[in-house]
Amino acid sequence: MRAKAPPSTRSRIKSGSHDGQRTKPARKRTAAERERIEAIFDRFAEADPAPATELNATSRYTLLVAVVLSAQATDKSVNRATEGLFEAADTPDKMLALGEAGVANHIKTIGLFRTKAKNVIALSQILLRQYGGEVPTERNALEALPGVGRKTASVVLNEWGLEPAIAVDTHVFRVAHRLGLADGKSPNQVENQLKSTVPPPYLTRAHHWLILQGRYVCIARKPKCGACPVADLCPSKDEY
Ligand code: SF4
Repeated sequence: MRAKAPPSTRSRIKSGSHDGQRTKPARKRTAAERERIEAIFDRFAEADPAPATELNATSRYTLLVAVVLSAQATDKSVNRATEGLFEAADTPDKMLALGEAGVANHIKTIGLFRTKAKNVIALSQILLRQYGGEVPTERNALEALPGVGRKTASVVLNEWGLEPAIAVDTHVFRVAHRLGLADGKSPNQVENQLKSTVPPPYLTRAHHWLILQGRYVCIARKPKCGACPVADLCPSKDEY
């Protein structure tokens, strides 16, 4: 008999900022649950020991810009746009020389391109003025940059190996619920729960695995449970 999926499995992200700030700790797990969760990440690690972002970038600066551009856009669409953009400007000073209209022209195929072009120029100005053209590596400094929120900072800090952060986007949120790793109602709650649920050796890579799982296997409308590498460990399998 299959385990019954947790009632939160079909939860949706609650966008209220106040709710997002509330902490909902991960519930206490039984030894069997901890074993199941460990087995999920063992399986991910076996299949893909070194997962990485699918965004194309050649430096900390270009990664930061790519992640800023990826808000509400697919990595593929960002890569298409940044191919020309980074050829023309892969440093803050070159980006300023390109100008807001030039940046907008390169990225006009992705959503919110005008706002994003403005943010890329504004953050490049700050990097030049305050950080000698380098990208700061402290979370507070990153989050103070235009267009850089908590999620963006988490993605780049994790990618740079500076913080085992788990940025919770729509894929991570969905997969964490379906796999019974978290039941929080907001990205911040899920992030906090994942931090204490994911076995420590896997914390740095968990973000990538969960995103890739959500993007290619555990997709929103019709998850591919038949091809899922952790189907036998998933409490939601029989829901689809
Ligand atoms: S078994 Fe299905 S619902 Fe569970 S993680 Fe895999 S694809 Fe998602």
